[in-house]
Amino acid sequence: MDCPQQQANLHPWRGDGPTLRHARPAPLLPSLVALFGLFVSAPTMSASQPPSNSASAQAASAAANSSSGRTVLTPKPARAPISPAKHLLVIAHRGASGYLPEHTLEAKALAYAQGADYLEQDVVISKDGVPVVAHDLILDDTSNVRDVFPDRVRADGHWYLIDFTWEELRTLTLHERTAEDGKPARAGRFAANGVGFRLHTLDEELAFIRGLNATLGKAQGREVGVYTEVKSPAWHRQQGVDAAPIVLASLARHGYTKATDHAYVQCFDFAELRRIRVGLHSELKLIQLIGENSWGESDTDYPYLLTPAGLREVATVADGIGPWGPQVLRFAPGKVPVPTGLVEAAHAVGLAVHPFTLRADELPPGVTSLPALVHALQAAGVDGAFTDFPDQVRAALK
Ligand code: CA
Repeated sequence: MDCPQQQANLHPWRGDGPTLRHARPAPLLPSLVALFGLFVSAPTMSASQPPSNSASAQAASAAANSSSGRTVLTPKPARAPISPAKHLLVIAHRGASGYLPEHTLEAKALAYAQGADYLEQDVVISKDGVPVVAHDLILDDTSNVRDVFPDRVRADGHWYLIDFTWEELRTLTLHERTAEDGKPARAGRFAANGVGFRLHTLDEELAFIRGLNATLGKAQGREVGVYTEVKSPAWHRQQGVDAAPIVLASLARHGYTKATDHAYVQCFDFAELRRIRVGLHSELKLIQLIGENSWGESDTDYPYLLTPAGLREVATVADGIGPWGPQVLRFAPGKVPVPTGLVEAAHAVGLAVHPFTLRADELPPGVTSLPALVHALQAAGVDGAFTDFPDQVRAALK
């Protein structure tokens, strides 16, 4: 998990977010501030914000207006008691991104070899409708797009992935994430230049994982799964692209269609997750990501989702939640982390809990090591965790 004090230039604590950039909003485009998380202030560390009645009503209204016409869905029964040490899933966050540039096939291969149970894919759609594995909606911080396509910048000063065809995107090289000043976003991470890392499509990564499952996985008696995020579906729709069906079609091409398949689909946008279940009829395991409203990730009201009523509503469509660290553990300098009660509340309505993001180089206040953080999360009863360091989390589980 990130540490706000150590990484003032990054969105603190955040395992996900479109840009991880400082606030530099264009005056005429205030909505971009919300869309891309271009903010300065840190989200609250409190996990217990009071529910908003209006938001609750909004959510109820959204449920009533569901395209499926189903206004009430029955929550699944409570989960069986969990044995954390055996069942905590190690989810490689953008690959082994603590060691190699995020969302490169090299980072995915390393995560596989390090013992991850699932490899994460964030998906942004190209100009010609190709699902591309990338976290940000913009290419500024992870590629050489400035040098290759200097005149393709938008008026707001950013290069958007969706403005490029896949043939164009594949000519770019990737590097370790940089901050606005061009310096590494996280000190101590992969620093070599000139390696020639490339973007890849979701289909390419799914084929890659299938190939590894047939070689290394077979030799080790394991099958690594996929954990795919539909990024910013409302923003894609504003750009004229319906992202979720493109992502689901890619997953289906590679055999991922059923609840029993080794696949999760994740999204911050609850309306979209509901649509994926009841509108697009996906049977895949679904994870509702939960952040803070201040991040501007979607129109979803996250404090409401954390209430018993909100969790019950999530449970009507999803199999689990992906909260960020402080929603699961209360951290304070010099103090042992204390569970917030979210895990029990989620389990009570049948939701698994997979918090983000465990980072050895950005530990929360009061946590002295990554193994200590893993053990605190195990004690809280989580079912899995996103991490940039799959090897260290795997080792801590032994
Ligand atoms: Ca993600």
